[in-house]
Order: sequence, then structure tokens, then C-alpha cells
Amino acid sequence: MPTKYIFFTGGVVSSVGKGVTAAALGRTLKERGFNVAVQKLDPYINVDPGTMSPYQHGEVFVLDDGAETDLDLGHYERFIDIRASRVSNFTTGQVYAEIISKERRGDYLGGTIQVIPHITNEIKRRIGLVPKTTGADIVLVEVGGTVGDIESQPFLEALRQLRTEVGRENVLFVHVTWLPYIGATGELKTKPTQHSVAALRSIGISPNMIIARSDYPVDEELCEKIALFCDVDQKAVVPMVTSPVLYEIPLLIEKAGMADYVLKMLGLEAKQKPNWKEWEKLVAEVKKPKPTISVALVGKYVELHDAYMSVREALKHAALAAGVEVKIEWVHSADLEKDKGWDVIQNVDGIVVPGGFGSRGTEGKILAARFAREKKIPYLGLCLGMQLMCIEFGRHVLDYEDANSTEFDRSSHHPVIDLMNEQRSITEMGGTMRLGLYPCVLQPDTKAATAYSTALIEERHRHRWEFNNTYREAFEKAGMIFSGLSPDGKLVEIAELKDHPYMVGSQFHPEFLSRPNRPHPLFVGLMKAAAEKAGVGEKKKASEK
Ligand code: GLN
Repeated sequence: MPTKYIFFTGGVVSSVGKGVTAAALGRTLKERGFNVAVQKLDPYINVDPGTMSPYQHGEVFVLDDGAETDLDLGHYERFIDIRASRVSNFTTGQVYAEIISKERRGDYLGGTIQVIPHITNEIKRRIGLVPKTTGADIVLVEVGGTVGDIESQPFLEALRQLRTEVGRENVLFVHVTWLPYIGATGELKTKPTQHSVAALRSIGISPNMIIARSDYPVDEELCEKIALFCDVDQKAVVPMVTSPVLYEIPLLIEKAGMADYVLKMLGLEAKQKPNWKEWEKLVAEVKKPKPTISVALVGKYVELHDAYMSVREALKHAALAAGVEVKIEWVHSADLEKDKGWDVIQNVDGIVVPGGFGSRGTEGKILAARFAREKKIPYLGLCLGMQLMCIEFGRHVLDYEDANSTEFDRSSHHPVIDLMNEQRSITEMGGTMRLGLYPCVLQPDTKAATAYSTALIEERHRHRWEFNNTYREAFEKAGMIFSGLSPDGKLVEIAELKDHPYMVGSQFHPEFLSRPNRPHPLFVGLMKAAAEKAGVGEKKKASEK
């Protein structure tokens, strides 16, 4: 069977959930027995989002092979339950870097290098790598941004060419648009959708399907109108009203008949009947009223929740497993340094300190870690959150007054977190951290080992600094347990406190491997401890019986 491609373009405005739509459709196709792969094309010129501020770009999602990718990859992995690889995300920057290095090597033998064909060929080559490396039957490709952006033009041109090259019957264009609501007249407007389809047509692409995103119900008549003006089948106009339950979207797509229509258009027949039992149970569970517990997420980019997308999702997954609803309190770490936000911290059932870079706000996170340790509030530290938990322990339990990470204070007398040896000589910032999947051995009879109930794990990393082994013995004597180590014993991967209900920090990022139906053990551990502290959830129920 030839590889089938579904290309997703965006119209009107960005951030209307193109990635989630692609991921959810991917899931409905996987349910029909197909091997599905997804790819995101990012039109910006950065080589990857690894060096971009989370304010600009949201979270950097790290894959098994260490690729630092767009946060949409997180949606793909969580919805379709796949493990993506480096080929699943590329940027204009990567495309140009490749072409320019070839040119410098003299590979073009004096030829003039142009957007068409050189850039577009490189784009097509990279799309082709997905079926080549995954063997996928269906490849879903999402183009970042909105039609009309200067940056995305070469991508759209490449897709247009690809349609002819692989055969029109093997390609489907899905255009995701937004229907604005006019409050004064109380109606939804289709005109911007019409314009964005016209813009797409002017570059030679006619969409086969339109997903009309909206915050309000979209009636039949409106769909008819979109079908008529945008020249698609009425069946091919799928209204998609914003759902408060993210994981309901695959079910909504199923109900709208989108997967069957897509298969028909691609000349495919389902290999099996979709089985939504587990997913329906999950959504029903999400919707069920449950006791609420609150968890403070103490970060420095908290204004933009997307910066902690996977952490938020992992908390939600774990809450489901613990039978509670989690209310995330977004606390700005710098506020805690200015005596603000403590009213929130004092009333939460758990604290999460996520990853981060640079010194801004770290003292506030250290204060939060101290509060969690002293008041016995369940705490989970993710990467930087683990490092700061160790710094706090060094300062206040071991009396190392200026304990710090050399990332923030090079002259500290107690650099309990220090640069990894391999990192010392590196001068380039992009893609040079300890990235991707590494094994970790769990020490028996620890909170970590209990949470995982296995001895060997593999988790995704993204850091330069690590726990300084000079201090291991002193920390252990004072009550810290290094419950996860690299197999050679040289690197601390998980630290936890002995006399505390749950104070655990991991040098890796567990949030990237959490799935809605397979919550991450370390998050479940946190949530259970938090639920217990609040006197709700599973444990309580068991003791009530
Ligand atoms: N800045 C720290 C380091 O590089 C932590 C990184 C992180 O939290 N991802 O080691």
C-alpha cells in the first residue's frame, strides 16, 4: 500500500488546536488498525525550539533520541500513544542549515541555490523520512502557523508538489480554521474561513476538509455555507466546538464521522473496528465529580501555561489514577522572594517545582522546597526542581550556607550541583545538553522503587548540571536517599527524603512519558501523597470501608 499523507494547514488565527486535532484524528486512525506517524513542520528560522524562551514558544518537548521539539509532539505522543523520533519535527532553520552546509562543501557544483527546487526538495526529503523510518501507513503532517505567513510558503509549495508526486489519491488536505463570534449580533462568522481558503487556493492547494473550530455550537446551515463557499463536500466540513475535556476530542472526531470520511477519500478500508472502551472510560472518569486537591506549580513562566504543558497533563493523568481532581495553583517563583504568593503555598496539598534555566526565580523555588520539606508537604522536583531541592537541603539541613549550583553562583563554596564533566568544554548552546533517554537503576525500598515497582527505568533528560558526587555521603548521612542512579552509579538521577511523606526529585523529566491511561509513577506518587494529606482520594476511601 502506498503511504498516505494527511496535511494539516491553519487558517484565520493560530492556537486553535491544529495539533490536538491532528493528534486526535491520528488516534481514530490508529483505532482502525493503521500504523500512524505524525510530523510537525515549524516555519520559524531557529534550528529547534531548544534555545527559544518558553514565553515565545511554550514547552520544549524532548523525545527518546534527545530531539528538542515543538510541544505539539507531546499531544501526538499522548493522544496516539506513540514514541516519536527526531524526524517528526523540523524547522526552516534546519532546512536552510542543511542546504547552506552542502553549498559550502561545494555539493552544488557551482549551481544557483533557490527556494524552488532546493529548499522545497529538502522539505520533501524530510517528510519522506517519516514513512521510511516508521513504516507508517498514514503520515499526518502539520504545518505550523497560518496560511498567508511568509515563512510557511516554501512548506506549502513543497506539500503542493508532493501531492502530484505521490499521487492525488494518496493525499488529503485538512484546513483548520476559526469561526469568530460576534457578540453584538450573536452569530458566528465564516468570512475569515472563506478568505483563508481563498489564500490557500491561490497557491494551488484546495483543501479537502475543513475543521471549523469555534467556542460556540455551529449549526448545519453554517456548515452548508462553508461547504458551498469553500468548495468542499458538506460531509467534509467538521464543526469542532471547544471542549473543556481535552481527551474527549478523539471521541468527538469519531462521532463526527471524520475518520471514516478520511479513509474513504484516501481509498482505504479500516483494518479493524475502533474500540473506544478504555478511552470512553477515561473521559467519563474525567467528567465525574471528584474531591479536589490543590497542587502549586512554582515556576518562572507561569503566566504562559503552555510552558508547562506536559507537567500539567501529567498532573491531570496522575490525579485520575488517585481518584481526585487536581486544581493547579500557578505560583510565580519570583513572587515568593517578595513575600507574595505564600497564602497560596500555605494552603496547597502538594508542590511541584518544574525544570528551568538561569537564576531568575530560583531563590523563590528554594523557598518553596524548604516549605515543603519543613511542613511535610508532598513535593515533586523535575530536573531543576530536583537540583534546587538538593541545594535547599545543603543550605538548611547541612548548614552549607552558600550551597548552590555553579549555574547560578560560580564562586559558591558548596557547589552541590555542578557541571557534568562532558559539558565543561562545550561552547555551543543549541542541542548540546544531556538529552534524551538514559537508563536509571532504582535502589530497593525507596519511594521511587515503590512508585515504579520495577528496578530499571529509562527516562528523558534535558540538562547540563548534575548532583556533585563529592557531597553524596554527607547528604546521605543527613537523611537524603539517592534512590535512582545511572547504571554505572556515577550520576544521581533521583533524590528523595527519608523522613517525609513524599519529597522526590528527578534529574530527568518524567512528565514527557506520562499518558492519560498510563500516568507516570512519580506523579502518581505525588498525587497519592497529596490526596492523603488532604484526607481524600483512594486511601481515604479504603480506610472508610
Ligand atoms: N538548568 C539546569 C541544568 O541545565 C536544569 C535544566 C532543566 O530543568 N531542564 O542542569
